[in-house]
This record gives sequence, structure tokens and C-alpha cells, in this order.
Amino acid sequence: MKQPFLEALPVIETLEKAGFEAYFVGGAVRDAIIDRPIGDVDIATSAKPEQVMNLFDKTILVGMEHGTVVVVHEGISYEVTTFRTEGTYEDFRRPSSVTFVSSLKEDLQRRDFTVNAMAMDKKGVIIDPFNGQKALQHRKIETVGEAKERFHEDALRMMRAVRFMSQLGFTVEQKTKEAIVEHGHLLQHVSIERTSVELEKLMLGRKPGDAFSLLIETGLYKYLPGFSLNDEMKRRLCACQWGKATDVIESWSIILILLGVHETNAFLRAWKLPNKRIKDVQAVIAAYSERKLQPWDKRTVYLYGLDTALHVNRVNLMLHSGLDEESLIRSIHKELPIHSLKDLAVNGKDVMAICRRKGGPWLSELLQKIEMKVVQKELPNEREAIKEWLESCNQILDEPC
Ligand code: ATP
Ligand code: MG
Repeated sequence: MKQPFLEALPVIETLEKAGFEAYFVGGAVRDAIIDRPIGDVDIATSAKPEQVMNLFDKTILVGMEHGTVVVVHEGISYEVTTFRTEGTYEDFRRPSSVTFVSSLKEDLQRRDFTVNAMAMDKKGVIIDPFNGQKALQHRKIETVGEAKERFHEDALRMMRAVRFMSQLGFTVEQKTKEAIVEHGHLLQHVSIERTSVELEKLMLGRKPGDAFSLLIETGLYKYLPGFSLNDEMKRRLCACQWGKATDVIESWSIILILLGVHETNAFLRAWKLPNKRIKDVQAVIAAYSERKLQPWDKRTVYLYGLDTALHVNRVNLMLHSGLDEESLIRSIHKELPIHSLKDLAVNGKDVMAICRRKGGPWLSELLQKIEMKVVQKELPNEREAIKEWLESCNQILDEPC
């Protein structure tokens, strides 16, 4: 049994000693079987949330109604969820209620894909009522039960199918694919926050190009905000060297570039991304446009910063497979005399005192000039040298105001 499970074993044992059933379930079991790095270890149990909370010192109640309690053991958090089925589905979203059930099998049955519907007991025995291991062997994503029904219950599962295809490098089984074609439009009813989580995981997977091909083939892309694609855009989305993306900032930037989006803010807002991510992506787009016009130099590396410059470099590699400029960017950055305005030997107050002038729009203009002269190494980052330069260009008033 792999280390993450061994570390979680005491949680299972505590539940069992108290007379409950408990198993490892979901993604961690799947990833262990195919030797993929194991993410979060989730546990399913016959114990009810309040019973779980009574058994452990450190717990966080995530959702009584969904039966999920986080148990913290030796500093690691485990989601412990009561065996459940999902009640009625409204508007093709998650169920409005869940029902706790007594058997593991029923719990596995409510899960989306056969590869995600396996459990493992404390001895490492796999419980696999829906042939998830066979699907892993054949590298197939197929729903537990009838695909159309499962997508009708929760339309997000269609995006999840494509996301797992990208992450695992699998194919989507024919019936499951046909159900996506038929039910794709239901994705409109799913909250954009849930869809964007899946799209981001898809973009950082092993095979985003194949996943975009499937989104296009099934027509599911039409229900993604801002994805009105012409043939050229479709071709480029599938052909892009996605594998080089190191984070979602680069992936979103590529999407904006490939889709020729001008209203970047509106596009990213429609996806309800966090403000910080929107700003980071917009910085990459601005730097990418400037880099197209001229090579990296002290000014651009300083203005955009190391992270943005490195993102632009990778975006360029993915789109044009040009020259890798990472070491050039790093060495320009290392050699910069200052890395932000805070590092400048003078501040606004100093400049006002030296020039004997009151503040005003002139001040920030002049500070920017000094900053750029220092960055370009035309002026040393020293107070005296900066004062001399201000004198030489007549910035100091004879008659202070
Ligand atoms: P990851 O490695 O990305 O976390 P995961 O398989 O753990 O992959 P999660 O989204 O964390 O995926 O979900 C955990 C498990 O819960 C899944 O393996 C699946 O069994 C079940 N699951 C999650 N979302 C759904 C859904 N919308 N419908 C049915 N089952 C789901
Ligand atoms: Mg998970």
C-alpha cells in the first residue's frame, strides 16, 4: 500500500474499531492503481457526520447535509464522507438533497465514472463493482450506469469526462461521447465556477489538445463562455503544444491569444476567475504583445517582472515553438540594479526636497524618468548621483516655492 494510504490508515482503523465501515475511495484509489501521484485521500464510511466528529479530536464540518467531515490526522486533512446516494436533481445540477445509505456499493454507484467508483479497504483489497479496473486497463472513461441519465442528473459530469481524459490521457467511451453530444446544452445550467475548475484541470492535464478536440467534436465547447470558434481557432486549440504550460495563467493567456479576444477583462470575468488571476493573465497578454515588437531588454523585464516574463516565454514556446529565452530573461533580471520602485535610492519626498518644489504631476513623471535611467544603468542608484543629474537637467529651483 502506498505511503499516503499508510498515513491515513489510523483514520480507517478508528472508524472500524467504533463499529463502522470505512474505505478509501475515489481518485486516490484510481491513481494508486495506475501509479499516478496520489492527491487527496478521501474516505467513505457508514458513520454519520456527528459520529465521525465524536471519534476524532480535530475535525471540521464541511457540510452536514452532504455528510462530509474533514478529519485532521498528523497534520493531514482527510475528507470523510458518509455513504450516500444523491436525491432528486433539480435543473441538471447537483442534487438538492442527499440520502445516507448503509452500503458502500450504493455510494460507489452515485459516483461519475467507473474509474472513480472504486474503493480500497485497510488491507489494500480493491472493491470494484463497476469494473473500474478494466476501464483503467483499456484507458477508458465511461459513466457508472447510463451516460445520458448521469449527465442529465448533473451536467458538469460532461466537462469532468473531458477533464479526466486530458489528465489521464484516456479516451472517452463511445456511448459516453454520444451522450455528451446529446446533452451538451445542459452545461448552460451548471454554475460557471464549477465549470472553470474542470476547464483549468483540463488545461493542465497531459493531453489538453485531445481534450479540446473532444470538446469540439461533441459540440460541448459551444456552452463555454466566449468560445465562439471558427475553423482556424479550432485547429489551433487542438494543435497547440499545451504540455509546456506550468500554470493556468499561461493556459488562459493562450486561450485569449488563440481566440483573438480583445475584451480580455469581459472574457475572464464571464468565467468568474479571481481578480488576481485576471490581472496576472492580462499582464501576460500585454507583455506578450510588447515582446512581439521587440526583444527582451532591461526595461521590459523590469516593467513586467520575472514571473510575467517567464510566463510569456512559455506562451511563446507553446504557440510558436521558437527560441527558449528563459536563461536570457533570468540573467537580465539578475543584473537589474533595482527590482521595484521601492529599491530606488530616492523617494518622492527626497526628490521634492532636492528640487525644492511642492508635489504635483511633475513628481511622478520625474520619478519614473529616474527609475528608468537607473534600470537602464544610465544613472547609478545613488542619492548623490541622482541629485547631480537633477541639477544637470535644471530640475532644481533656484527660488524654492
Ligand atoms: P482529482 O485528482 O482531480 O482530485 P478526483 O477523482 O479526486 O480527482 P474530485 O473532483 O476530487 O475528483 O472528486 C472526488 C470523487 O468524488 C471522484 O473520484 C468521484 O468518485 C466523485 N465525484 C466528484 N464529483 C462528482 C460528480 N459531479 N458526480 C459524481 N461523482 C462525483
Ligand atoms: Mg480529489
